[in-house]
Amino acid sequence: MTTTTPPPPLEDHYKQLIQYFLHDGAYNEHELIDLLNNLRDRYDLKIKVQNEIRTFTDTFLPLLNKHINQYGMEIKQVVSEENENDIYFVCIQNFKPQFVKMDCSYTEKEAAIFEKILELIITNDEKCIASRVVFEAILANDLKMTQKEFGEIMARFHRDKWIESGPHNTIILHARAILEMQSFITDTYRDDTYNCQICRRLLIRGLVCSNSSCDVHMHRSCAARYFLRLSNSTNKKSAYPCPTCKKEWNKNDVDSVLKTTKTTNENSDQQPTTTAVNKRQRTSRNNNNSTNNRSVRSSARQVISESDDDN
Ligand SMILES: [Zn+2]
Ligand SMILES: [Zn+2]
Repeated sequence: MTTTTPPPPLEDHYKQLIQYFLHDGAYNEHELIDLLNNLRDRYDLKIKVQNEIRTFTDTFLPLLNKHINQYGMEIKQVVSEENENDIYFVCIQNFKPQFVKMDCSYTEKEAAIFEKILELIITNDEKCIASRVVFEAILANDLKMTQKEFGEIMARFHRDKWIESGPHNTIILHARAILEMQSFITDTYRDDTYNCQICRRLLIRGLVCSNSSCDVHMHRSCAARYFLRLSNSTNKKSAYPCPTCKKEWNKNDVDSVLKTTKTTNENSDQQPTTTAVNKRQRTSRNNNNSTNNRSVRSSARQVISESDDDN
């Protein structure tokens, strides 16, 4: 990636984009489109309407990265583990110490709270946690704080895309946090995290093989692609053998991600809705079996709701 020749000078709209990313850290697709539309008007850019994201990824992004790489930064595209419709562009900073790679405007105490949230989510089989549990843990850890202050900092973590709403009023790690903190997470929680069998990236919440002695995990979107390709090639519908141990994966789980993918493809220009898959499927869950992480992390896709943090 690194070249010895300096990259060509940047035009103003690129510089402006870098400033935005440095300030905000991460954008979802819709925020980025707004931003690009804004720049188009201001700088008279030739970006086709409804083609903003492609223009960004194909043209803007490589050039931006060429420039910011020399300062230890990179803008990366990342997809939510919960819903592959949710795409984010995150400016990661490789030069920062492993923890906390957060916005430096957070105080030490706020960073400690986030570290606690991270721990609670990752060491929990479901990889999600209720706000109330977080608050109790914070108090138990002598991080003095009122309920109101807690609500405010949680709202900010949501807004800055470090956490998002999970199933049943819980919070989960945002794709941004997983991307930016992956080396910290894998170093600190080696026994509680997995890499996706398909894309090999770090996985927090996904699907898991129903065989308790098999460690194969997949992102929801990766599982959908894998089993779809498999059923097309073998012509066997509703057979979902594990790529490693060959045991059948939980049918409800796989059906639910396939259904989501299908709906996603049909409505690729639309905002995600809750209608496609609404049921939380949790078969093959051994209630008291805490010796392994067999819980099926197959929550229905959740629409990000920023108002869920006031529990
Ligand atoms: Zn994957
Ligand atoms: Zn398996």
